[in-house]
Amino acid sequence: ATFGNLSDRLADTFRNLRTKGKLSASDVDGTVREIRRALLDADVALEVVKDFTGRVRERALSDEVNKALNPAQQVVQIVNEELVGILGGQQRRLEFAKNPPTVIMLAGLQGAGKTTLAGKLSKWLAKEGHKPLLVAADLQRPNAVTQLSVVAEQAGVAVYAPEPGNGVGDPVKVAKDSIKFAETKMYDVVIVDTAGRLGVDAELMKQASNIRKAVNPDEVLFVIDAMIGQDAVNTAKAFQEGVDFTGVVLTKLDGDARGGAALSVASVTGRPIIFASTGEGLDDFEPFHPDRMASRILDLGDILTLIEQAQSAFDEEESRKLAEKMATDSFTLDDFLKQMQQLRNMGSIKKMMGMLPGMGQMKDQLENFDEREIVRTEAIIQSMTKAERENPKLLNGSRRLRIAKGSGSTVTEVNGLVNRFEQAAKMMKTVAKGGMPQIPGMGPI
Ligand code: GDP
Repeated sequence: ATFGNLSDRLADTFRNLRTKGKLSASDVDGTVREIRRALLDADVALEVVKDFTGRVRERALSDEVNKALNPAQQVVQIVNEELVGILGGQQRRLEFAKNPPTVIMLAGLQGAGKTTLAGKLSKWLAKEGHKPLLVAADLQRPNAVTQLSVVAEQAGVAVYAPEPGNGVGDPVKVAKDSIKFAETKMYDVVIVDTAGRLGVDAELMKQASNIRKAVNPDEVLFVIDAMIGQDAVNTAKAFQEGVDFTGVVLTKLDGDARGGAALSVASVTGRPIIFASTGEGLDDFEPFHPDRMASRILDLGDILTLIEQAQSAFDEEESRKLAEKMATDSFTLDDFLKQMQQLRNMGSIKKMMGMLPGMGQMKDQLENFDEREIVRTEAIIQSMTKAERENPKLLNGSRRLRIAKGSGSTVTEVNGLVNRFEQAAKMMKTVAKGGMPQIPGMGPI
């Protein structure tokens, strides 16, 4: 993952500290030096690293740490707080206009992920009860209008665009007209996608700036690829001078790059990170929480995000029915299958597991976790009759053999599944009685 290496390095640093009862000034200096190196290796901008380590050092040498019962833990806490600080502190939500439509303009280099973001953002807004309109004001790239239309269709939202292939258009006029269109058709959020270039250039800035003046947006979101490394700071500064923006969106946080951009851009520009993009799918998108990101980096886990994702993946009606079934002990193999399918909707299970605390150390097991397992399980359950799914007690030897043949698996695999189901059903009962919630069907981790 993006911050894997940084997380490991910081964890090592803290592990060394943990063995110490009292911290000397040279312990603190050693620790700060290691943190500094880890951040620089993760491509965090030098100015940010200097500030960060300066503050950590000062606080770690202070009385609050010396007097603490566990100074090492105190240092981890300080690093956590300072990380939250450079990521922007408090969560900043998207701001809506008092008089709709709210206008959101997207700016950034070509390939940063603006068009994809337009789709993600509009899908998310629609889910929140808004009626968004996507506007294709990128008339530079021949394919851009088509690409935005495709994304809009996937997201199930409307798009405002000049006829594709209609030659040169005026993006400023398109953007301006789209606002009037939105007003008459009662769209309450307008998302304006603008042209990007491979590198920062004056003409690009001028056009973006003209669009900004023409539509007077409530938010200008600067979209930046977290993988671009040390260039991030200069690109961000150029856009800040050329167009200025009210917030940042980090994309490609799912990548294997070092992610320093993510850690630099908020403090360098003084603008908050509002959203994060974590994949190519339209659902790989979430509001950005500085504190959760910091915990993820420090491997403190991200239980809050995990729980929210689980909640949004299970729709309410289903959850209510399920709760009822749990309580009355009538949970069936069909429900088990349904649950597993819903888990798959949550996106990669691996990604989800990565948010659990302490998972940094469990990467190997995580790598071995096999999502194909779910597919196999589906095949087995689908080979059962309705009666068998509702009452697994019917599953004698010959039925199990038939199911194994029908699903292309072995009897051992069928037995394994039935056992896991029984465990899950037992667990459900515990949950229904107010025990610890757990996710059934995932098998031992
Ligand atoms: P634009 O030129 O700024 O409009 O960028 P696009 O939206 O066309 O995205 C460029 C490429 O990056 C496309 O192949 C996208 O699928 C991909 N992409 C966008 N966001 C993400 C992300 O969060 N993660 C990954 N892995 N790929 C992304």
